Amino acid sequence: KVKDNGRNFYEFFEANMNEYASERLMLENNLRRALAREEFVLFYQPQVDSRTEALIGVEALIRWMRPNSEIVPPGDFIPILEETGLIIPLGEWVLAEACRQHKEWIRKGLPPIPISVNISAIQFQEKEFLPMLSNIIKESGIEPGYLDLELTESVVMQKPEFVIKQLKFIKEMGINLSLDDFGTGFSSLSYLRYFPLDRLKIDQSFVRGLSTDSVNEAIIEAVVALGKSLKIKTIAEGVETKQELEFLRKLECDEIQGYYFSKPLLSEDFIKWFTNR
Ligand code: C2E
Ligand code: MG
Ligand code: MG
Ligand code: MG
Repeated sequence: KVKDNGRNFYEFFEANMNEYASERLMLENNLRRALAREEFVLFYQPQVDSRTEALIGVEALIRWMRPNSEIVPPGDFIPILEETGLIIPLGEWVLAEACRQHKEWIRKGLPPIPISVNISAIQFQEKEFLPMLSNIIKESGIEPGYLDLELTESVVMQKPEFVIKQLKFIKEMGINLSLDDFGTGFSSLSYLRYFPLDRLKIDQSFVRGLSTDSVNEAIIEAVVALGKSLKIKTIAEGVETKQELEFLRKLECDEIQGYYFSKPLLSEDFIKWFTNR
């Protein structure tokens, strides 16, 4: 009897695994096709100065617009693109599209708006990354000082010598560097000084409930102090309320990004947001 149950369980398990594997394969194929058909779109989320509330830049955030008009958030497909290596062509598309958009806004009469692009660890470590980057800069005609690359601690903490060399090269090109989701990884604080960073992005988990959580307040205060002594700017992400904004101002965090000012917007909506302000 026990044996039977065991076999039943195994069959059940195997059927589920097959279902999982085939669903996964289908998703992979759909993503490949989506890449070929350019079903991806960039949204842009404003970043503002914490004191003046003036726009200081936007972060480009990818969405997958499926033919059935479903909008898929990056968390649902970036990990698969990373596992399959498809993140390399997609990441190249994101960079090119962000630079193209920056130039198009200028052509439409907007001032040059600094643009941040998320770079995945796999993309950053790929040996063609730097030539690809400098190619896109050249072809788009973007002034490199208007481009900012957002890297996570997981990127920066691998092979520090390689990473530092690569980061210095990017800085020499005139491009800016931000450390994304800061505080959630395990970056060694003593290493930070060797990285030519322009900005620390304080993860939204520290911002959430800031007004009631004194531990988060202490963490943000410490990150801002660290930024000040290393001469690196600090930006808080995920700011949703007036209260959170006031706290961050009081703690002298330099810049703010979050729903309180705006959700990520399609280009046309961003232009409206900008011109209505
Ligand atoms: P991230 O770079 O840390 O981006 C910030 C995320 O927080 C975005 O989620 C944004 O929509 C969300 N967010 C901003 N303000 C608020 C707020 O006030 N409240 C809340 N609840 N959320 C807020 P999104 O767009 O879903 O992106 C998730 C992650 O996917 C990003 O985290 C980034 O790691 C990755 N990602 C997005 N676009 C790209 C891309 O083009 N390439 C790569 N490699 N990764 C990307
Ligand atoms: Mg980011
Ligand atoms: Mg982040
Ligand atoms: Mg994040």
